[in-house]
Amino acid sequence: MWQMNAPVSKARLYVDDDLTEGHAIHPTKEQQHYLVNVMRLGDGDAVSLFNGRDGEWQAVLAREGRRGCALTPQQMTRQQQASPDLWLVFAPVKKARLDFIAQKASEMGCSRIWPVRTDHCQVSRVNDDRMLANAIEAAEQTERLDIAEIMPFALLDEALQACGDDRTIIFCDEASAGDAAANAITRLAEAGSIDRAAILIGPEGGFSNAERRQIDRFQNSLKLSLGPRILRADTAAIAALTCFQSVCGDWA
Ligand code: SAH
Repeated sequence: MWQMNAPVSKARLYVDDDLTEGHAIHPTKEQQHYLVNVMRLGDGDAVSLFNGRDGEWQAVLAREGRRGCALTPQQMTRQQQASPDLWLVFAPVKKARLDFIAQKASEMGCSRIWPVRTDHCQVSRVNDDRMLANAIEAAEQTERLDIAEIMPFALLDEALQACGDDRTIIFCDEASAGDAAANAITRLAEAGSIDRAAILIGPEGGFSNAERRQIDRFQNSLKLSLGPRILRADTAAIAALTCFQSVCGDWA
């Protein structure tokens, strides 16, 4: 566990390798470049590592050659813990705002980020690797111990079916915008404890009526208003995540 005299970590990295005391690992070339050339770390500097399985470790850096380095885990600083079982299911938007959604959903603690095709969705392809890179970078920054799972672009129906009967579908519907009875905070508070949730955000073009009927058929769907203004999809995603995390999630 954490020791008072442990050196302060100068960087925090996600790695694939298993993390065990005394077993040196070699981070990727990009990570080595970052540590050695960007952060200018040298022998003996401390770096935090996590891999989504083995908790967080403090490792010591040893330079190798002119550009490389190895990292040897020395002590576990935090036990592994899971993020809330919270999905963000959303109709993807174009590049920079898609990066933004993947980053912010990770920062807000989503366990799964799932882009879906809806009737009015304008985007036909999603770069999974780029979304994953954004999720990893956000996890490194926010000190979470796992990486949000990035699901391949699928049909809305597939994500709805995956919610099954035991996951609350938090349906952010622009048609309910401003409906006081559907106020997000009130609805979530009334719903009581929610162990598994999927927040559903539509495309810039909104949901179709057929989709509304399809979603309403799920008994465990909860229709929400995020206030009287129509928000852009990325803003709506963050607003909904904020409401959920503060009322039902891990902010308590
Ligand atoms: N073009 C649509 C707006 C879509 S906004 C229209 O003009 O009606 C994109 C998505 O953000 C919506 O599908 C919904 O999921 C969410 N959203 C935006 N504002 C919202 C609000 N006030 N309440 C609930 N959901 C909202």
